[in-house]
Amino acid sequence: MCHPLVLGSVEPLPILQYTPDRHDETDGHIYVDSLDKAASYDSQVIFSTRFLYYISTRHTGDACGFSGDYDEAESARRELAAFLERSLEICADLQLFVAFTDYGDSGVVPSRFDYVGPSDIRTWMTGFTPGDFFQVIREVV
Ligand SMILES: [Zn+2]
Repeated sequence: MCHPLVLGSVEPLPILQYTPDRHDETDGHIYVDSLDKAASYDSQVIFSTRFLYYISTRHTGDACGFSGDYDEAESARRELAAFLERSLEICADLQLFVAFTDYGDSGVVPSRFDYVGPSDIRTWMTGFTPGDFFQVIREVV
């Protein structure tokens, strides 16, 4: 798989509906799985949060599926934005790293820092480039 998306949170997030074994194949466009921080050197260096999650799209099995101008990608982005919005109600800010293929013990560090809100993902203003590190923030409406 190529460029995974890793999400960090100081609180545990409700991911049950997104886990691969509980997933309803007829709907749902993203998978969210917990990641063992202790097992990954990169995770320990990059994230200050205790809980980590690996996010991928159902149709590609990785985060590439969020990019592109087609229905599946758009649905995946919408679902990711909704998941982040719900997660932000539990945890005021989240960390999101667009990882490289060899994420784990690669020694990689983020190359760009930015803020992102759920609506930025919906409108796809940002895009995801490996090396991007985002602080995911609640948007004022
Ligand atoms: Zn891919």
